[in-house]
Amino acid sequence: MHVGVIGTGHVGLVTAACLAYVGHDVVGMDDDRRKLDLLARGEMPFFEPSLAELTREAQRAGRLVFTCDLDDAVCDKDVAFICVGTPSGSDGGLDLTAVEAVARRVAASRPREMLLVEKSTVTAQTGARIERALAVYGGRGMGRVEVASNPEFLREGSAVHDFLRPDRIVLGVRSDWAEERLRALYAPLVGDAFRCPTHPDCSPVPGGSPVMVTNVETAELIKHASNAFLAAKISFINTVADVCDRIGADVRMVAQAMGLDARIAPSFLQAGIGYGGSCFPKDVAAFTRFAEEIGIDSSLLAAVTRMNRARVDVAVEKLRKTLWILRGKRIGLLGLAFKPHTDDVREAPALALATRLRQEGAETVAYDPHARTTARAAAPDLVIVDDAYQVAAEADALVLATEWPELLSLDWDALKRIMRRPVILDGRNALDRERLQAAGFEYLGMGR
Ligand code: NAD
Repeated sequence: MHVGVIGTGHVGLVTAACLAYVGHDVVGMDDDRRKLDLLARGEMPFFEPSLAELTREAQRAGRLVFTCDLDDAVCDKDVAFICVGTPSGSDGGLDLTAVEAVARRVAASRPREMLLVEKSTVTAQTGARIERALAVYGGRGMGRVEVASNPEFLREGSAVHDFLRPDRIVLGVRSDWAEERLRALYAPLVGDAFRCPTHPDCSPVPGGSPVMVTNVETAELIKHASNAFLAAKISFINTVADVCDRIGADVRMVAQAMGLDARIAPSFLQAGIGYGGSCFPKDVAAFTRFAEEIGIDSSLLAAVTRMNRARVDVAVEKLRKTLWILRGKRIGLLGLAFKPHTDDVREAPALALATRLRQEGAETVAYDPHARTTARAAAPDLVIVDDAYQVAAEADALVLATEWPELLSLDWDALKRIMRRPVILDGRNALDRERLQAAGFEYLGMGR
């Protein structure tokens, strides 16, 4: 099929590369010329495992090209995906300016017959607004352009695998025609014979990845409901962690036992310094705002955000309790990305913690295996060094903020020797407490 992908960021580039990988002809379009220049040279605008290989292979095969001209991504295409950013607006709702701009520009290109698919995360009922924009700006010259919703559930750090081996594919459509188009698009990767190149030995999904067909509004809501639920799980276990701290219980064991209940499941029950990234914070806030707007009690959702923001305070108080005075103390942060295997620092708890510690008068120094460039751009005042040992030198405490595998197996004896005071706050409950204590560290966990 001929596919356009509008917006080639974390979602759009993965979508474009993966659809080209399974055999479609894809044009990726973006407004950001710097990004396009990098892609033209075969370089990646951000770090995502396996994405560079897939993108270059598809470019070499002539199945993936990039452009800054929207017409190229729309004219004569069977399907065009909207993958532009939908950041938080000033009122907590989503800023859908880029989505609206795309709708207007698509209308102006007057495609003959095309399915325009929302893949960006949008508030429910955005599809209807796009339809109206197409009608207003497209006029009579436009052919059949139908709007559909196909929310994306990929996780940064395993995005290629998640796209090619999805837990589920949600198709929010208005007609059989739209459903057939999307089914045909995904057919190459839905079957149980499909092998993901990133994990060739992973077992196939029995019967293939499930496809759910809904109306557009339901599909839009599924994405926000899923993200809000996962965020709620994290805020819930963080509340349990605080209780554990008070009474001397171990949240890891509580979570493990809870997770053995099939109704609860173990994932997203890791207590720590909170969730971040470009999705959870803004999606929970937007869902909260949307519920308020339509007159639904949103207090449960609002509490999820409030609890998450307070994680930084919990971490600061733990450090204060041990170090007494924070002013003048040197505190080293291990990890800056909002989670491992990505260089994305958007809404990263580590950056919020660094800011808070500096406000308290502490000196901060940080290291991340992959997110140094993005973190330097996001936090120019933060001192970022090139390895964990420079972070530990003369430090009064370390904080594990991102559980990168390389940060879990450092030479703790060597680190302890160069620290002023061997205190470690395990902000992700991911370290081997006994090993650290044996090395002479004062170990602080989150609910352990
Ligand atoms: P991103 O910021 O990485 O990429 C967005 C891209 O859109 C940028 O390259 C930007 O230049 C481009 N863009 C913006 N306006 C444009 C326009 N008018 N025309 C053409 N290009 C334009 O964002 P992302 O992380 O890829 O997220 C995109 C959407 O997908 C968001 O709605 C997000 O919530 C959703 N989403 C993200 C993830 C994730 O893990 N990052 C997962 C699922 C869904």
